This record gives sequence, C-alpha cells and structure tokens, in this order.
Amino acid sequence: MRIIIQKFGGTSVATQQRRELVSNKIESAIEKGYSPVVVVSAIGRKGDPYATDTLLSLINNNETHLEKREMDLLMSCGEIISAVVMAETLQRRGIKSSVLTGGQAGIITDDNFNDATILRVDTKRIIDLLNKGIVPIVTGFQGMTSEGDITTLGRGGSDVTGAVLGEALRAEAIEIYTDVDGIMTADPRIVPEAKVIEKISYNEVFQLADQGAKVIHPKAVEYAMRGNVPLWIKNTMSDAQGTMITSAKHNEGRIVTGITHMSNRSQISVKCKDTGNEKDLFEILAGCGISIDLINVFPEYRVFTIDGKDSLRVNNILKDLGLEYSIINNCSKIALIGNGMRGVPGVMAKILKTLVQNNIKVLQTADSHTTIWCLVSEEDTIKAINALHKEFSL
Ligand code: ADP
Ligand code: MG
Repeated sequence: MRIIIQKFGGTSVATQQRRELVSNKIESAIEKGYSPVVVVSAIGRKGDPYATDTLLSLINNNETHLEKREMDLLMSCGEIISAVVMAETLQRRGIKSSVLTGGQAGIITDDNFNDATILRVDTKRIIDLLNKGIVPIVTGFQGMTSEGDITTLGRGGSDVTGAVLGEALRAEAIEIYTDVDGIMTADPRIVPEAKVIEKISYNEVFQLADQGAKVIHPKAVEYAMRGNVPLWIKNTMSDAQGTMITSAKHNEGRIVTGITHMSNRSQISVKCKDTGNEKDLFEILAGCGISIDLINVFPEYRVFTIDGKDSLRVNNILKDLGLEYSIINNCSKIALIGNGMRGVPGVMAKILKTLVQNNIKVLQTADSHTTIWCLVSEEDTIKAINALHKEFSL
C-alpha cells in the first residue's frame, strides 16, 4: 500500500468551492495509486463561524475561568465539523470516506491539556479503513489521553497530526496543503517579491518555523524528519509543484535560504551588582517559567530578550531584586536562515551594512551555524526584512 498524508489547512476548507478543490487533490492521489489519509483543520479563520478562535470567544478566550480540560473539548469541535463536512463532499462524489477523531485515529497523548504531547500512535483503525479502500478523514490538532479525555496539540497542531501519522504509517510523503505555493524566501505578506523555494532541508524549515514563519509547525518538521518522510508544502488553490523538504542539503550556492521574524520581543539590559548575582537572575527567571534568548554576557552587564507578554512580570522581578536595568519593548527579532552560511565570512558584516544604510538601528545580534538574528525596533521590521531580502538576492 502506498500511503500518502494530505493535510488541508483552515483556508483550504473554508468554502464549498475550496472543498471541491480539496476533493480534486484527494481524487488525483487515488488515481495515481496512493491510499490517502486526509487531515483537516477547522474551517476558516477567526471571525468565521466554526473557526477555533471563534469557538474560544464563546468562553472569553484568554480570560476564561474554564478548566483546560473543558477548553480542549470546545476547541476540538472545529475540526470535527470540518471533517464531517469534508466527508460529505467526498461521499457525494462517490469516494468512500470515514471520519476519525484524533483519539479514534489512535493518537494518544499526555494530559497536558491545550498543548499535549503525543506519546504514541496506534494505527490499526486507519490501516483497517485503508485496507477496505476507505479514505480516513482525521480531525487535526487533537488527540486523546489513555483515560479517554480529548486533548489538543497547540496552535498549528493539525500539521503535527499530519506529520505524526506520516511517521507512524511510514507514508511515502506528507503533503501540507495551504494558501501559498510553498515555503517562500519570506512571508509574502511582508515581502511581495518573495519566491517559492523548490527544495529545502528539514533543518532549514525547522529553523524558519521555529523562528516565526507560521507556514508549518516546527514539531511537524521534527516528526517528518524523524521518520525520514519527504514533506511537501503545496497550494490547494493551484497546481504549482510546491516545496519538497528532505534531509538533503540542497544549498545550491545560496548563503541565506529564507528570512523570518518574531514580533513583540522585549530587550532587557541588567547591570551586574556583584559577581554571582546574574546566575541567580537567570535561574530566577527560569524558575518563573520565563524563557530568554539572544543572551549576551559581559563583565559589567547582561543583555537578553524575552517575549513581550512577560515584560511586566520581568520588570517587577528586577525591581524586587533591586537591580539596575532598562527594558526596550516592541522589538522584533529577525532571523536569516541558511545551511550555506556555515563558515562563510562576512555574512554578518553584510547584514549590518544593509541595515545601517537603511537607517535601521540594530539593538542586538546573535548567530549560530545556520542562523543570524538581529533585534530591531518593531516599526523597522518590514523595511529591514525587505532590505535584507533584496541584499541577499532571495
Ligand atoms: P493553514 O491555515 O493552511 O495552516 P497558515 O496560515 O498556518 O495556513 O500558513 C500559511 C501562511 O503562512 C501563508 O499564507 C503565509 O502568509 C505565511 N508564511 C509565513 N512565512 C512564510 C514563508 N516563509 N513561506 C510561505 N508562507 C509563509
Ligand atoms: Mg497552519
């Protein structure tokens, strides 16, 4: 059996016209001799009647008093509705299909409600359906504890469902269908000239996703990589070839493969009181569940960044500790990613020169083998990304 996973995002299943396009993709996989396993997200985006964010607004979103266990029951409804509507579209065409919730599809998780971790996948039920020539339509973004409680997998979790099933079923490929023609050199909403990348490595996509490119969930990349299943990003609304993601390096002389960013970061600079104190500070912050990055340690002070939503808490912690510090809010962390930058001299120099020439103040930088980060003011983000995109001829 040649199993293929086909995951369709919220915009792909948003209207009946689009669901017909989804059916075309499924039908064409069957015609090519594949046994597709379909995964769907909830219909549409915030504001659309059955989107997950809309369901959450019924219980006041973040300010809710509802237990996370019950929140997960509510949040799992969007995908159930979407899968049933999709089944109707397929069955009307004479394609046999059967809807499975995450639990019914054998996705067993821990009980960390709202952000559960998948412990194992029991594929028996999916295999039984495939053997009978029935297309399983699995509700994305959800699993079940061994006690039978419904859990959800965190934002973008339908990608994770698709990838974990691809790994467990040893699929020939995992196809993630969305509203763009593939992984692009930058978010096309920020850089209109961004180009589709034909081939890219798991590692580079993981970095892009992890650093803010929401085109795919980073965990999904990890599962595909672990199972060594080729991962494709394709457009439901076009016949473009899409992006193929494998372990091959594919860097074809390019230094930077893509640019992404994370907004709402805050930069903290803390003056050292005496030696040893700062170690305590990092421990205290970790103890409060505050993650920090872009950490620069100097003899006299420490500089690091945090998620802007933690800014007020960190401010209070530093004040209570009696430390001298300053905070710059509304920063944006830009990441340039590419396997090809490993060991190439002058990349950082080129980035800094480009930003300076565009009158963009660089607040901080950091680098690893395959990523260079620049912290800039939020209002400079679009200008900075476009300038860098042009400079590296992406
Ligand atoms: P879906 O609902 O199908 O899961 P998402 O909104 O999660 O779709 O992801 C698709 C969106 O990701 C695109 O519309 C695009 O704006 C955004 N995006 C961000 N960075 C990139 C990138 N590097 N390449 C392609 N798309 C990107
Ligand atoms: Mg998505």
